[in-house]
Amino acid sequence: MIIRVFPSRTNMTPIDDYSFVGSPSLFIPEHDEIHISVAFTWDIQRGYELLNEWKSVTNKPVKIGGPALGDGGGEYIPGRYCKTGITITSRGCPNNCKYCFVPKREGKIRELPIAAGNIIQDNNILACSRNHISKVFEMLKTQKEVEFRGGVEPARVTNKIAEDLRGLRIKSLWLACDTKNQIKSLSKAVKILQDAGFKRNHLRCYVLIGDDFTENENRLLEVYKIGCLPFAQLYQPETKIKYPKEWKDFCRTWSRPAAYKTYIRTIKE
Ligand code: SF4
Repeated sequence: MIIRVFPSRTNMTPIDDYSFVGSPSLFIPEHDEIHISVAFTWDIQRGYELLNEWKSVTNKPVKIGGPALGDGGGEYIPGRYCKTGITITSRGCPNNCKYCFVPKREGKIRELPIAAGNIIQDNNILACSRNHISKVFEMLKTQKEVEFRGGVEPARVTNKIAEDLRGLRIKSLWLACDTKNQIKSLSKAVKILQDAGFKRNHLRCYVLIGDDFTENENRLLEVYKIGCLPFAQLYQPETKIKYPKEWKDFCRTWSRPAAYKTYIRTIKE
């Protein structure tokens, strides 16, 4: 058995008995190896501290790796570094958005063997071959509460994709609108998805923020107007930015539908 150790918890961190966040606890289960998994560059130092801490409590191999350490990732093993239910069927992305680490770390798109799961965490699933997408959709027909959390690139949404998505039990499709130049393609994609029957509650949209309050708020409002539920995310480069309280509050409001729906009502009055 492999113990997996994470410097910090996210909503993707596994929660089984062999998964730990931070330092070793008093009781450690029998194991064959320990893997320290570092997802964020700002956790690298903590990752190496944990490597030493965990080495001091075992005579088994202790390794460190993960996306932040340039590990492009191999075959996806469900439940190992991400919670059960999450699956990754491809790595990389053929695009080159200037604020994104994915192409640098993982390269162009690589299709992986398809492991079952209801939450697709691929960076850009629609950039895969038609054959791969069809196989992923076949697997998803066996799943409930299907979520495309890694991101559905608006420019790649077609009538055929929308029709195929309708054949699944979709809980949420996560689109993205990280710059104002993407509003047009988002609007087109949402129209296709709405025509196929998807409603606002299905259509979530990541919105990168953190540079210009006015532009960011206008973009968030536009995303809502187009028909999605926006989800604001503060931009984080390799060296973590410590945002002031105003930005954190702004992000918190715009990542909670109940909070921003109330706000939108107040500015309309
Ligand atoms: S499409 Fe998404 S994954 Fe690909 S480079 Fe742009 S932000 Fe990154």
